[in-house]
Amino acid sequence: MKKVRCRRCDALISFDETAYPEGRVLIFRCPDCGKEFKVKLVPKAVGDAPVVGTLTVVENTFHERQTISLRMGENVIGRYVKGSHANASFRTLDPSVDTTHCIVDVREDRKGKLRFVLRDAPSNTGTFYQDEILKDVDRIYMENGAIITIGATTLIANIP
Ligand SMILES: [Zn+2]
Repeated sequence: MKKVRCRRCDALISFDETAYPEGRVLIFRCPDCGKEFKVKLVPKAVGDAPVVGTLTVVENTFHERQTISLRMGENVIGRYVKGSHANASFRTLDPSVDTTHCIVDVREDRKGKLRFVLRDAPSNTGTFYQDEILKDVDRIYMENGAIITIGATTLIANIP
């Protein structure tokens, strides 16, 4: 079961998300206040999948140290804003970090080994892997301990 919060009165509404296809927009009516609102079901590629790695967001003048969870599927990394499409966002005031900045696609290769594949979203200021800027076509196999730079922000990969 999943819970959503009414945007008007804050009441919690439970529903069985498995009854609906992923990516589907559902319309709910709040049982308390009657307000209708839409909820989009996030593909479970990320949402409920187990955490298989993390990114450490190094503290700077724009934010405190944080940890971003990486799950199987596409992890969209960016500056958190309300209603963000980035499912792996973090809280920062860094204006050079886009709300959708880069993507880490976690998948299994043919031998069953996890691969963490980094690409630029594309972003306005670019994504750097070990100080090299990614071209739009680049797909980088990340290594443990690698440094990713987005805007003025440094991320460190903690992956198997
Ligand atoms: Zn309500």
